[in-house]
Amino acid sequence: MPEGHTIHRLALDLERDLVGHRVEASSPQGRFLEADRLDGQVLRSTEAFGKHLLLHFGAGSVVHVHLGLFGRFRRHRHPAPPPRDTTRLRLVGPERTWDLVGPTACELLTAAGLRGLRARIGVDPIAPRTSREALDRAFDAFSRTRRDVGAVLLDQGVFSGIGNVYRAEILFLLGIDPATPARDLSRRDFDAIWRKARELLRLGVAERRIVTVRDAGRRPPRREALHVYKRETCRACAGPIARTTSANRSLWWCPTCQRPRGESTRS
Ligand SMILES: [Zn+2]
Repeated sequence: MPEGHTIHRLALDLERDLVGHRVEASSPQGRFLEADRLDGQVLRSTEAFGKHLLLHFGAGSVVHVHLGLFGRFRRHRHPAPPPRDTTRLRLVGPERTWDLVGPTACELLTAAGLRGLRARIGVDPIAPRTSREALDRAFDAFSRTRRDVGAVLLDQGVFSGIGNVYRAEILFLLGIDPATPARDLSRRDFDAIWRKARELLRLGVAERRIVTVRDAGRRPPRREALHVYKRETCRACAGPIARTTSANRSLWWCPTCQRPRGESTRS
């Protein structure tokens, strides 16, 4: 599933191609009939928060897209190929055409629907600004749950945009055992997770992919870009990487480098 950096990158790319222009909108698949109401409107802005993408149109219409596991956008130069049978939404701008296929959600939101969506989505590490109050609320939710920190990092109502790759990499870089109950972590740990998530997801937007290994500014090849995710040996200690299940997803971690908080780890 795309993580938050992909959605923020998409918002920027769609903005560059389409914002400020009248767009032709259609649903070749016929499953988003409201596309007709958008046809010929100016796309005013795009917005990403967490894994959600919003397209704000001139007349106040707001399209909400969630890619889910299988959704993706394709970008075409003109002349664009004919849409596929599965194209949920086609947006044609002055120079580029964007096709959306296979999303979990593609819908028009009412003002109340938009408020509801914003209210249930947690703090987004890529967002330019996050209020102290919002962060305190996230810590409050974090510190009251018995769930393991690995599962809580995937809870989009606490932190939005962190997915399966980033959670493994963040916990490794901070040396936290993913099975540690979130409520056993301190505010300092929480703040460290937040800062690391900001750093890594923002880098992901810039790099257009997930990179967590920084090697003196060198852009690592794909197979060398991560610390633990789907790896067999640890980059730091050369020990075996373990695989466990957390929130029904596989989670890779290093039992040597990542310890429960509070436990003595050094002899
Ligand atoms: Zn290790």
